[in-house]
Amino acid sequence: MREKSINSSDFIGKVFGRLTVTECSEKRGKRGEILWKCFCSCGNAAEVPQTDLLRGNTVSCGCKKRENNQNIYRQLRLVDGTCIDFLEKRKTRKDNRTGKIGVSLYGERYRANITLQGKRYYLGTFDSLEEAVEERKRAEEELHGAFLKAYYDRKKEEQSEARAIASGK
Ligand SMILES: [Zn+2]
Repeated sequence: MREKSINSSDFIGKVFGRLTVTECSEKRGKRGEILWKCFCSCGNAAEVPQTDLLRGNTVSCGCKKRENNQNIYRQLRLVDGTCIDFLEKRKTRKDNRTGKIGVSLYGERYRANITLQGKRYYLGTFDSLEEAVEERKRAEEELHGAFLKAYYDRKKEEQSEARAIASGK
């Protein structure tokens, strides 16, 4: 991947979402890309590829994504019957044009998303369809696991309540 070289004095101090660029890293990314050391508003440090900063792919040390995931889980806990809905729907729903569930075209790129209780959560935008499909799959597995756990936890609680009532406690 070719990258325009950026004058570090122009780049240091720039803010991308929660990240503030502090210095150019001596390390290089997996594909040889330029990495910038950044300071995240949550207090963590992160080294982020220049291209991800410029394209808006990375806007935090990872904390924003974690918060999004937590929001998803919070939603999950509210539900019960929708567990089944979700598992059923994911079998059939395909987004237009990419032919992949939960992946839509976004300009020349691919955007992964997951819909839960009528609300769509964006998982990120990717250069390749494969990456977007991969991310969607990962989120699905995470959600799937969390869903089933929440569902069975609830069931267990209900059962022990029922037992308590039956035994007259
Ligand atoms: Zn952070």
